[in-house]
Amino acid sequence: MKGYAGTLLRVNLSEDKVTKEDISDSIRKEYLGGRGFAIKLLWDEVRNADPLSEYNKLIFSTGPLSGQLLPSAGKMVIASKSPLTGGYGDGNIGTMASVYLKKAGYDIFVAEGKSEKPCYLLIADENIKIMDATDLWGKDSFETQDLLEKQHGKNSGILVIGPAGENLIPISTVMSQKGRSGGRPGMGAVMGSKKLKAVVIKGTKSVSNFDDDKLREIGKKGYEEIKGKEHYNFWMRQGTMQAFEWCNENACLPTYNFREGVFEFSKEMDGYVLEKLHVARKGCPMCNMQCGHVIKDPSGQQAELDYENVGMLGPNIGLRNLPQVALLNRLADEWGLDTISLGSCIGFLMEASEKGLIPEKIKWGDFEAAQKLTVEIGRGEGLGKLVSHGVKAAAETLGKGSQKWAMQVKGLEISAYNCHACPGMALAFATSPIGAHHKDAWIISWEIANDRFSYDKSKVEKLIEFQRIRGGFFESATVCRLPWVEVSFGIHWYPEYLEAITGVKWSWDDLYKMGDRIYNLIRAFWIREVPQFGRKWDYPPERWFEEAQSEGKVKGMKLDRRKYEQMLSWYYELRGWDQNGIPLKETLEDLGLKEVSREIV
Ligand code: SF4
Repeated sequence: MKGYAGTLLRVNLSEDKVTKEDISDSIRKEYLGGRGFAIKLLWDEVRNADPLSEYNKLIFSTGPLSGQLLPSAGKMVIASKSPLTGGYGDGNIGTMASVYLKKAGYDIFVAEGKSEKPCYLLIADENIKIMDATDLWGKDSFETQDLLEKQHGKNSGILVIGPAGENLIPISTVMSQKGRSGGRPGMGAVMGSKKLKAVVIKGTKSVSNFDDDKLREIGKKGYEEIKGKEHYNFWMRQGTMQAFEWCNENACLPTYNFREGVFEFSKEMDGYVLEKLHVARKGCPMCNMQCGHVIKDPSGQQAELDYENVGMLGPNIGLRNLPQVALLNRLADEWGLDTISLGSCIGFLMEASEKGLIPEKIKWGDFEAAQKLTVEIGRGEGLGKLVSHGVKAAAETLGKGSQKWAMQVKGLEISAYNCHACPGMALAFATSPIGAHHKDAWIISWEIANDRFSYDKSKVEKLIEFQRIRGGFFESATVCRLPWVEVSFGIHWYPEYLEAITGVKWSWDDLYKMGDRIYNLIRAFWIREVPQFGRKWDYPPERWFEEAQSEGKVKGMKLDRRKYEQMLSWYYELRGWDQNGIPLKETLEDLGLKEVSREIV
């Protein structure tokens, strides 16, 4: 099948061994790429491994759309068994590393084993070298990127970790291009555990597509369509920060550790304030609607902002100053910490302090304290140590009822949407296959625009449809979903792109089935790897069931537990899982996963 480099590259860091394997057509058809390739490999090869041991594997995986001259196609997926959750973990990242990995002749690169000393990998077409990184160890992700770029040239794709990944902090990510970040469930720590500071990729080849002329033509049309969209200009002014005003108005902005959904100082830091402070734009390769807005932080340095990091490092910790949020965001990126989890961890500590559960006095909105905590979390020291393994572990240590307001699902911190009055989005967080993250099913905008307060079966059906498209197709293709989500780019383009690239006609039914195969295999991985995994892993935090919001248009509202249970039961039924969330034998067999059913059913 065309459109793939066709090769999987393995580097075993314990044995200094490099191997290359063909990727069969059947694997390409059944799993497409990206997340699909990653879970297939993890299911087959990582069993009962400690996530930070040499037995875990770190996978960098592209798909047929990655690196093509198509809208927002500069993405790759980074996946592994997660040290934060113990289950399947992944994240997508926009990076030139995705483009150059395919140009070097590989669809997937797998890091195995563990180096004895700090190293980085240089992948340059057929030449693979394990390089000494002793001088880079301890440096932040920005400086590391600069040094490697200086040494290997700008025509390189570079993936790095910061000190947080080196220190095996489970909320650390992989960074690229000084601002792109991927792998929320601790992919940075997995890389650090292998003593792998960076990967530098250079490639000079081109991937052979089925119909290059057609691809050029429809790719160009796609870019033009995006620019002509009604919402394009506003998007270019605010990017994802447009969600800030919307969330505040709809009372779902994470505020004071998700206690509230409305921030009284929102006007001081919303998308319109960002517009005035904007000095530059950044984003991923191949994108003509780049969403990273750069402003100057209080130290005069440039720092990038988007909605998620502003929501979590702003209102969620009571901070109302955008340049200060930008500085925190930059600091987190330099350390290689996930900004969503970081905002949740700091919010958790501020609430613990307010409730008198810890002796330290940290007030909501205390910028200096937040800076200090960011560094302490990155080091795993001081008060930061308590939350450096995420809020689930912190609440288990602290006790005193804090589990109820440790804002996580399956161990991954919730991203920036308060769901006291958004049952569909609460279910989306609860059933996301990596733990609480919005990327698989951002149903909240559909939910608020349609029937916000209903717990109907039709909402559950819509949620699964979103998971199939976003978590199944986009994460495996691998391409950014935001053109479709944010400016209504025609979804019909994607099967057309796939056909021009691979020569294979995929209907959406085929792609949905492929997405279901991936979801079921991920579910099977959780069942195999996490003892007693089942229904109780699929609930949002108690706070949303027990404490009503006190402000905004949903004042007095909280989730209805009985109705949530019914939604979850419908979700299982529609997925073909039993009422403990275990896939049924016939569901797995229908997806071609008979071998899997023998292990878990
Ligand atoms: S829309 Fe944003 S996240 Fe998506 S590819 Fe463009 S810059 Fe990257």
